[in-house]
Amino acid sequence: MNLLVVGSVALDSVKTPFGEIQDGLGGSATYFSVAAGCFTQVRLVAVVGEDFPARHVAFLRSRGVDLRGLERVKGKTFRWKGLYEEDMNEAKTLRTELNVFEAFRPELPSVYKNTPFVFLANIDPDLQRAVVDQISDPYLVACDTMNYWISSKPKALRKVLARVDILFLNEGEARQLAGGSNLLKAARHLLALGPSTVVIKRGEYGALLIRKDSIFWAPAYPLETVRDPTGAGDSFAGGFMGYLSRRKTLTEARLRKALVYGSIMASFNVQAFSLNRLRKVKRDDIEERFRSFRGLVRF
Ligand code: AMP
Repeated sequence: MNLLVVGSVALDSVKTPFGEIQDGLGGSATYFSVAAGCFTQVRLVAVVGEDFPARHVAFLRSRGVDLRGLERVKGKTFRWKGLYEEDMNEAKTLRTELNVFEAFRPELPSVYKNTPFVFLANIDPDLQRAVVDQISDPYLVACDTMNYWISSKPKALRKVLARVDILFLNEGEARQLAGGSNLLKAARHLLALGPSTVVIKRGEYGALLIRKDSIFWAPAYPLETVRDPTGAGDSFAGGFMGYLSRRKTLTEARLRKALVYGSIMASFNVQAFSLNRLRKVKRDDIEERFRSFRGLVRF
């Protein structure tokens, strides 16, 4: 079933203890689309500038991403510069240049307006809302956000949360948004703001799926080398939503399996810079990791 994503398509400059990359392909919607595209047909809504390389567009198209909602306008593409030091779970943002996102007002192609599954990737919450407003009767809406928006646009973010079924965020953001250190209490607080499911990502410590009456946890897939965690959250959400959007059934069992697919897609992503590992992932690679995941948690 179709899955729509709105988010950033970016040129990232990232440094980790394993190397660095300048103006590499990145952005929340990019990571999400490529991960989710392994499971379903993704429709992308975003904006890039005149400097966005044609080869990146060709790559996204080659992964089957529907780009009718990708606008190219005058100006520079969104840029993000990040640094990871010893703690690979946390990016230090060195610079954020919104550029073409500053004036972006998404206009969905009419064929997108009946998309059943929607993911509002990390982006200005006003833009997230502008997208949901244009979709008639979506089956499921999920969203992600980050510290940048939690502190700069808290009211706009709350309006989005009121419209959302699943909220994805990392543990630091959950504490920041809920205003408290205990993660379960934070999740309860967030559930009261609108979503019926909260997914808290904890980097190498895995992810929690918290609903009113249940809690589930999945570990991160263990890897000896993590080269670049950028996009881990978005590829996690991509695996989760990609799997979920294959059917209109929202059972606890499917949500749990979605969490595992999220962990798997994130694990591929962090093995290389930019989308260099994710771009080569095949269905068989995913299923192989799924089987070894089973062995990892069975006792
Ligand atoms: P994550 O999955 O959290 O590691 O997301 C990393 C991606 O988010 C990078 O590729 C960035 O281009 C993008 N990003 C960083 N800051 C922002 C922001 N303020 N708004 C939208 N996207 C962002």
